[in-house]
Amino acid sequence: MVEAMQIPVERVKESKLSQVDFNNLGFGKYFSDHMLEADWVNGEWKNVRIRPYEPLVYSPALSVLHYAQTIFEGQKAHKDENGNVHIFRPYENWKRMNRSAERMAMPQIPEEIFIEGMKQLIRLDKDFIPSGYDESLYIRPFMFATEETLGVKESSSYKFLIITGPVGAYFSAPARIYVEEKFTRAAPGGTGFAKTGGNYAASLLSSAEARKQGYDQVLWMDALEHKYVQEVGAMNIMFVIGDAIVTPDLSDGTILNGITRMSLLHLFREKGYKVEERKVSIDELVEAYKAGTLKEVFGCGTAATISHVRELKYKDLVMEFDVAQMTISAAMKKELLDYKENKLGDKYGWLVKV
Ligand code: PMP
Repeated sequence: MVEAMQIPVERVKESKLSQVDFNNLGFGKYFSDHMLEADWVNGEWKNVRIRPYEPLVYSPALSVLHYAQTIFEGQKAHKDENGNVHIFRPYENWKRMNRSAERMAMPQIPEEIFIEGMKQLIRLDKDFIPSGYDESLYIRPFMFATEETLGVKESSSYKFLIITGPVGAYFSAPARIYVEEKFTRAAPGGTGFAKTGGNYAASLLSSAEARKQGYDQVLWMDALEHKYVQEVGAMNIMFVIGDAIVTPDLSDGTILNGITRMSLLHLFREKGYKVEERKVSIDELVEAYKAGTLKEVFGCGTAATISHVRELKYKDLVMEFDVAQMTISAAMKKELLDYKENKLGDKYGWLVKV
């Protein structure tokens, strides 16, 4: 814990709150009045401030526009029944952002800017936080290279920002997914574990292709052997095989270390489930499906908490699942959501009050 620093605030002249349709929030549609901003110049963070959310004006030679040196986070704050606001596990996002920064040759963000700045920003815009079940304030910290140069090298200056906005309860229809065999997302030594824009840019063609074929997402395979599954879209993937919770391990650096994944594995272990973090081959999944032991398939991430998979296609085999039978993950989804809404008494110290 660091001393709270007082961040200078420039308030909006007129709030946009009245423009928000709280009955129809959607995702990523509304932004709160203010943003937090900081500049990395001459080797240090400067100009930490909170000011109105507004467009930024930059040179066409801004290096991030050309070479994509940029990282981000995605997290949520929920309002509980008493009107108190808690951010879910923000220290994990902070640590992950700094791991991404290291991989992308960018400066580390100090706790007092990331955590304290986030708290002060959310406090200022607290009226934007919806209070319905599963409704939340989505928080988007990000950093990008701001040097004006076309030289290919790490930038000498960066901008860090946090923007927020109210998002609705997330209903995700059970997903149809296919195993991606043409494109790959991440190889050992690459940037798979970092939350950097390029990973997402490189995935867009594949997901557009999937949508054209009537699918929601693709399941990525390892780039070397095309044998082991990695993750899906902006979610980690989990399976219930027999009586075990099985998910790909993080050891080769190709998969994002999801905070939902980490939290679910903790809760599963606490409940006494057998949890296996290891390589998961597509052949093993096909065999388990044929033997009737592959019982549940679900993605997990901040947006949906858990998204069930009703169809998983691999080559000509269409594996179909009855989502109504996925009782283990359905119960866990409710538990994690209740935890975030502070209904379970913050047993593990995962909630940070703003
Ligand atoms: N994988 C990828 C590629 C993602 O973008 C996300 C979303 N951040 C996740 C997994 C899930 O991570 P988290 O649970 O921290 O949201």
